Amino acid sequence: MASIDAVLLDIEGTLSSQSYVSKTLFPFSRARLPGYVAAHADDPAVRQILADTAALAEHGEDPVAALIRWIDEDRKAAPLKAIQGRIWDEGYATGALHGQIFPDSLAALRRWQAEGMPRHIFSSGSARAQIQFYRNCQEGDLSKLFDGHFDLTVGPKVEPASYIAIADKLAVPPARLRFFSDNPRELVAAEAAGVQVIQVIREDTAPDPRFVQVYSFDEAPVWKD
Ligand SMILES: [Mg+2]
Repeated sequence: MASIDAVLLDIEGTLSSQSYVSKTLFPFSRARLPGYVAAHADDPAVRQILADTAALAEHGEDPVAALIRWIDEDRKAAPLKAIQGRIWDEGYATGALHGQIFPDSLAALRRWQAEGMPRHIFSSGSARAQIQFYRNCQEGDLSKLFDGHFDLTVGPKVEPASYIAIADKLAVPPARLRFFSDNPRELVAAEAAGVQVIQVIREDTAPDPRFVQVYSFDEAPVWKD
Protein backbone atom coordinates (compact mmCIF):
# COMPACT_ATOMS: atom_id res chain seq x y z
CA MET A 1 0.00 0.00 0.00
CA ALA A 2 1.05 3.59 -0.59
CA SER A 3 2.62 5.57 2.23
CA ILE A 4 0.36 7.69 4.41
CA ASP A 5 0.34 10.74 6.67
CA ALA A 6 -2.20 9.62 9.29
CA VAL A 7 -4.32 6.69 10.45
CA LEU A 8 -8.05 6.87 11.12
CA LEU A 9 -9.42 4.25 13.49
CA ASP A 10 -12.82 2.83 14.31
CA ILE A 11 -13.37 1.82 17.95
CA GLU A 12 -15.99 -0.93 18.22
CA GLY A 13 -14.71 -4.13 16.66
CA THR A 14 -11.42 -2.49 15.66
CA LEU A 15 -9.40 -0.93 18.51
CA SER A 16 -11.76 -2.35 21.12
CA SER A 17 -14.26 -5.12 21.61
CA GLN A 18 -17.65 -4.76 19.94
CA SER A 19 -19.22 -7.05 22.52
CA TYR A 20 -17.81 -5.00 25.41
CA VAL A 21 -19.65 -1.98 24.06
CA SER A 22 -22.88 -3.84 23.30
CA LYS A 23 -22.92 -6.03 26.42
CA THR A 24 -21.46 -3.67 29.04
CA LEU A 25 -21.62 0.00 28.02
CA PHE A 26 -25.03 0.01 26.33
CA PRO A 27 -26.89 -1.89 29.09
CA PHE A 28 -25.23 0.38 31.67
CA SER A 29 -26.61 3.48 29.97
CA ARG A 30 -30.02 1.89 29.33
CA ALA A 31 -30.51 0.93 32.97
CA ARG A 32 -29.52 4.35 34.27
CA LEU A 33 -31.11 6.62 31.68
CA PRO A 34 -34.45 7.37 33.41
CA GLY A 35 -32.74 8.00 36.75
CA TYR A 36 -30.05 10.18 35.18
CA VAL A 37 -32.58 12.36 33.37
CA ALA A 38 -34.67 12.72 36.53
CA ALA A 39 -31.62 13.65 38.61
CA HIS A 40 -30.41 16.24 36.07
CA ALA A 41 -33.76 17.73 35.07
CA ASP A 42 -32.45 21.27 35.74
CA ASP A 43 -29.16 20.85 33.84
CA PRO A 44 -29.39 23.01 30.67
CA ALA A 45 -27.25 20.52 28.71
CA VAL A 46 -29.59 17.67 29.59
CA ARG A 47 -32.63 19.77 28.73
CA GLN A 48 -31.09 20.54 25.35
CA ILE A 49 -30.47 16.82 24.76
CA LEU A 50 -34.12 16.09 25.56
CA ALA A 51 -35.28 18.85 23.21
CA ASP A 52 -33.04 17.48 20.44
CA THR A 53 -34.45 14.00 21.15
CA ALA A 54 -38.04 15.22 20.92
CA ALA A 55 -37.28 16.85 17.57
CA LEU A 56 -36.05 13.50 16.19
CA ALA A 57 -38.54 11.22 17.98
CA GLU A 58 -41.94 10.17 16.77
CA HIS A 59 -44.62 12.80 17.30
CA GLY A 60 -45.69 12.88 20.93
CA GLU A 61 -43.19 10.20 22.01
CA ASP A 62 -41.69 10.66 25.48
CA PRO A 63 -38.00 11.61 25.01
CA VAL A 64 -36.76 9.12 27.59
CA ALA A 65 -38.78 6.34 25.95
CA ALA A 66 -37.37 7.39 22.57
CA LEU A 67 -33.79 7.30 23.89
CA ILE A 68 -34.30 3.79 25.30
CA ARG A 69 -35.86 2.64 22.05
CA TRP A 70 -32.87 4.04 20.15
CA ILE A 71 -30.46 2.12 22.41
CA ASP A 72 -32.37 -1.08 21.60
CA GLU A 73 -32.28 -0.26 17.88
CA ASP A 74 -28.58 0.80 18.03
CA ARG A 75 -29.57 4.10 16.45
CA LYS A 76 -26.67 6.46 15.73
CA ALA A 77 -28.53 9.53 16.98
CA ALA A 78 -26.48 12.46 18.29
CA PRO A 79 -28.71 13.20 21.36
CA LEU A 80 -28.49 9.53 22.38
CA LYS A 81 -24.71 9.57 22.07
CA ALA A 82 -24.59 12.77 24.13
CA ILE A 83 -26.67 11.44 27.01
CA GLN A 84 -24.87 8.08 27.00
CA GLY A 85 -21.54 9.89 27.28
CA ARG A 86 -22.78 11.70 30.39
CA ILE A 87 -24.08 8.52 31.99
CA TRP A 88 -20.83 6.70 31.28
CA ASP A 89 -18.90 9.61 32.84
CA GLU A 90 -20.59 8.77 36.13
CA GLY A 91 -19.76 5.08 35.73
CA TYR A 92 -16.08 5.83 35.12
CA ALA A 93 -15.98 8.25 38.02
CA THR A 94 -17.27 5.65 40.46
CA GLY A 95 -15.12 2.87 39.00
CA ALA A 96 -18.23 0.90 37.94
CA LEU A 97 -17.06 1.15 34.31
CA HIS A 98 -13.72 0.96 32.52
CA GLY A 99 -12.60 1.49 28.96
CA GLN A 100 -11.33 -1.53 27.04
CA ILE A 101 -8.68 -1.99 24.34
CA PHE A 102 -7.20 -5.03 22.61
CA PRO A 103 -3.52 -5.56 23.54
CA ASP A 104 -2.36 -5.40 19.91
CA SER A 105 -4.24 -2.09 19.47
CA LEU A 106 -2.44 -0.61 22.45
CA ALA A 107 0.93 -1.83 21.20
CA ALA A 108 0.27 -0.42 17.73
CA LEU A 109 -0.82 2.99 19.06
CA ARG A 110 2.36 3.22 21.11
CA ARG A 111 4.44 2.14 18.14
CA TRP A 112 2.79 4.67 15.81
CA GLN A 113 3.15 7.41 18.41
CA ALA A 114 6.88 6.65 18.68
CA GLU A 115 7.15 6.72 14.89
CA GLY A 116 5.34 10.06 14.66
CA MET A 117 2.33 8.66 12.79
CA PRO A 118 -0.75 10.74 13.72
CA ARG A 119 -3.65 8.69 15.14
CA HIS A 120 -7.26 9.80 14.88
CA ILE A 121 -10.52 8.12 15.82
CA PHE A 122 -13.75 8.11 13.82
CA SER A 123 -16.52 6.55 15.90
CA SER A 124 -20.26 6.95 16.26
CA GLY A 125 -19.72 7.44 19.99
CA SER A 126 -19.40 11.16 20.75
CA ALA A 127 -15.87 12.59 20.80
CA ARG A 128 -16.39 13.21 24.50
CA ALA A 129 -17.34 9.58 25.10
CA GLN A 130 -14.35 8.39 23.05
CA ILE A 131 -11.95 10.36 25.23
CA GLN A 132 -13.59 9.19 28.45
CA PHE A 133 -13.51 5.58 27.28
CA TYR A 134 -9.76 5.57 26.72
CA ARG A 135 -9.00 7.77 29.71
CA ASN A 136 -10.46 5.11 31.98
CA CYS A 137 -8.89 1.87 30.79
CA GLN A 138 -7.58 -0.81 33.15
CA GLU A 139 -4.17 -0.08 31.62
CA GLY A 140 -4.44 3.56 32.74
CA ASP A 141 -5.13 6.80 30.90
CA LEU A 142 -4.68 6.00 27.19
CA SER A 143 -6.37 9.15 25.91
CA LYS A 144 -3.02 10.78 25.08
CA LEU A 145 -2.38 8.11 22.47
CA PHE A 146 -4.79 9.92 20.13
CA ASP A 147 -4.28 13.14 18.22
CA GLY A 148 -7.93 13.73 17.38
CA HIS A 149 -11.49 12.48 17.58
CA PHE A 150 -14.23 12.54 14.98
CA ASP A 151 -17.84 11.56 15.63
CA LEU A 152 -21.20 11.80 13.90
CA THR A 153 -21.05 15.59 13.90
CA VAL A 154 -18.77 15.22 10.85
CA GLY A 155 -21.37 13.00 9.13
CA PRO A 156 -22.44 9.33 9.06
CA LYS A 157 -19.72 6.69 8.91
CA VAL A 158 -21.31 5.18 5.82
CA GLU A 159 -21.10 8.38 3.73
CA PRO A 160 -18.01 9.20 1.61
CA ALA A 161 -18.48 12.92 2.35
CA SER A 162 -17.65 12.28 6.02
CA TYR A 163 -14.21 10.93 5.11
CA ILE A 164 -13.56 13.83 2.73
CA ALA A 165 -14.47 16.22 5.55
CA ILE A 166 -12.08 14.45 7.94
CA ALA A 167 -9.22 14.51 5.44
CA ASP A 168 -9.94 18.18 4.89
CA LYS A 169 -9.86 18.95 8.62
CA LEU A 170 -6.58 17.04 8.95
CA ALA A 171 -5.16 18.79 5.87
CA VAL A 172 -4.21 15.37 4.52
CA PRO A 173 -5.12 14.19 0.99
CA PRO A 174 -7.67 11.32 1.28
CA ALA A 175 -5.22 8.98 -0.49
CA ARG A 176 -2.69 9.55 2.30
CA LEU A 177 -5.12 8.60 5.05
CA ARG A 178 -5.63 4.94 6.05
CA PHE A 179 -8.89 3.89 7.72
CA PHE A 180 -9.18 0.72 9.81
CA SER A 181 -12.64 -0.70 10.55
CA ASP A 182 -14.47 -4.00 10.89
CA ASN A 183 -17.53 -2.66 9.07
CA PRO A 184 -17.69 -3.15 5.26
CA ARG A 185 -20.23 -0.34 4.81
CA GLU A 186 -17.82 2.11 6.43
CA LEU A 187 -14.92 0.77 4.38
CA VAL A 188 -16.87 1.14 1.14
CA ALA A 189 -17.69 4.76 2.01
CA ALA A 190 -14.10 5.58 2.93
CA GLU A 191 -12.76 3.92 -0.20
CA ALA A 192 -15.22 5.88 -2.34
CA ALA A 193 -13.75 9.03 -0.77
CA GLY A 194 -10.30 7.93 -1.94
CA VAL A 195 -9.08 6.86 1.51
CA GLN A 196 -6.98 3.68 1.90
CA VAL A 197 -8.91 1.05 3.83
CA ILE A 198 -8.13 -2.11 5.80
CA GLN A 199 -10.69 -4.43 7.37
CA VAL A 200 -9.85 -5.51 10.91
CA ILE A 201 -11.18 -8.97 11.76
CA ARG A 202 -12.11 -9.45 15.43
CA GLU A 203 -14.44 -11.70 17.38
CA ASP A 204 -17.25 -12.62 14.96
CA THR A 205 -16.43 -10.15 12.16
CA ALA A 206 -17.23 -11.64 8.75
CA PRO A 207 -14.20 -11.19 6.46
CA ASP A 208 -15.14 -9.28 3.32
CA PRO A 209 -12.93 -10.26 0.37
CA ARG A 210 -13.21 -6.79 -1.17
CA PHE A 211 -10.73 -5.46 1.38
CA VAL A 212 -7.20 -6.02 2.61
CA GLN A 213 -7.59 -7.67 6.02
CA VAL A 214 -5.65 -7.92 9.26
CA TYR A 215 -6.49 -10.06 12.27
CA SER A 216 -4.29 -7.99 14.56
CA PHE A 217 -2.55 -4.63 14.37
CA ASP A 218 0.69 -6.57 14.77
CA GLU A 219 0.32 -7.35 11.06
CA ALA A 220 -0.84 -3.89 9.94
CA PRO A 221 1.01 -2.93 6.77
CA VAL A 222 4.02 -0.64 6.87
CA TRP A 223 3.38 2.81 5.46
CA LYS A 224 6.68 4.62 5.34
CA ASP A 225 8.40 5.28 2.01
MG1 LIG B 1 -16.72 -0.99 14.23
